[in-house]
Amino acid sequence: MVIITPKTPSASYLMISVEEALQTVLDTISIPLDVQPVSLDAAQGHVIGDDVVAVEPVPAFRASIKDGYAVVSGDGPGRYPVVFEAHAGGDANAVIHAGEVAYIGTGGPLPDGADAVVQIEDTRMTQDTADGGHSIVEILRQVRSGEDVREIGSDMRPGEVVMKKGEYIGAGEIAMLATVGVREIPVYRKPTVAIISTGDEVEEPTIESLPKGKVRDANRAMLVSAVATSRARALDMGIARDSEENIEKTLDEAISIGADIIITTGGVSMGNKDFIKPLLERRGTIHFGKIRMKPGKPCTFATIPRENGRDIIVFGLPGNPVSALTTYHLLVSPCMRKMGGYPDHNLSLRAKATTTFPITMDPARVEYRRVHVVFEPSVDAAGTLMAYPVDGSQISSRIMSFREANGLLVVPQKKGEVPSGSVLPIVLLHHSVDSVFSRSNRDQMAL
Ligand code: AMP
Ligand code: MG
Repeated sequence: MVIITPKTPSASYLMISVEEALQTVLDTISIPLDVQPVSLDAAQGHVIGDDVVAVEPVPAFRASIKDGYAVVSGDGPGRYPVVFEAHAGGDANAVIHAGEVAYIGTGGPLPDGADAVVQIEDTRMTQDTADGGHSIVEILRQVRSGEDVREIGSDMRPGEVVMKKGEYIGAGEIAMLATVGVREIPVYRKPTVAIISTGDEVEEPTIESLPKGKVRDANRAMLVSAVATSRARALDMGIARDSEENIEKTLDEAISIGADIIITTGGVSMGNKDFIKPLLERRGTIHFGKIRMKPGKPCTFATIPRENGRDIIVFGLPGNPVSALTTYHLLVSPCMRKMGGYPDHNLSLRAKATTTFPITMDPARVEYRRVHVVFEPSVDAAGTLMAYPVDGSQISSRIMSFREANGLLVVPQKKGEVPSGSVLPIVLLHHSVDSVFSRSNRDQMAL
């Protein structure tokens, strides 16, 4: 007779709400990671870790705003010889005198002696070549001193604050930083995230022929790509077999190579080969081990103390890829943002969407339903996000329910049905909407 020994039950975990779980995670990260200098090409997608000041004036020389003629404004309208051409990038040390003009292109350096630019539209070429080889142009309009000239430092003075600590660096900010000559940009470091799959049944996705009873590892590739989307560093730690020693060995490897966050998938439920919770209990502190959500109930969050350093953050995500990705978006992603210096209002990408189909609610758990969300503009209002169903069943073992999903609709925990046309909170999934939605989201932090 085979005797099955039940696993020693670890402390039974209180089932908490997603709000409580998220708050617990965020409270654990009291300060962001360290600030480090990066080059311009590595700065995009980071949060700036210190105020940055301009080191050079912009523009650095008196530059023309228009194509036209550099003039001495006091000369007034009349016919003048064009003594040279001041093209952008051309001689910046040229001089004109009263009674002379110079052709000037947009961005060209204003010659010394000139104090204004007359745009080409307010001039007429009267003579191509006069005596002495100069062409003659007629200035048709009186211009005031300084007209169509960008003075030195008029966009940015040296010492002026270009970006403030805590601001997000997008393409526009990169242009600004490039312009003012900042070569080393102080940014909050993004976390290094180690990713471990667990399971005796889990095989490399590249395996040619899958033995009966095995599954290809979807979670590692999925999470590596999710981490890469937020421009953080992912460490692929491979697959750990279902034994406490094996998982612990991989965990220790991740710690020794400097992971800030460790994500495991699988092995967090009630089975007698689910070793993650007991292992984390032994090695550190489990802050929660059960969440009132669907999918993702057994999601576990722990910290492991590190000698001379920050605690290591561990997320034990459920094994089903759908549950793992849902909990990643709801809990891991905001955690990574907080570590990377994002301001508080910017940690979760939340909005409201109008449903286009009826939804049966779950009386026991809040459901995070994969939907396809589309922005529908309106001529007389701000426009609406509309949530459409993704094809097929929403069961958590069905990874196809993530196909085309770009939002997680927050379906309340209740009896009954939410009719089509209802407005529900939504978590947006695509990282590209990051900065677009974050500003409008300041007052929508509630789940
Ligand atoms: P577990 O949480 O370990 O009980 O796993 C729950 C379900 O997810 C099982 O059907 C596993 O086979 C499946 N699963 C676990 N890990 C992975 C993975 N890395 N890739 C795909 N499926 C997985
Ligand atoms: Mg397992």
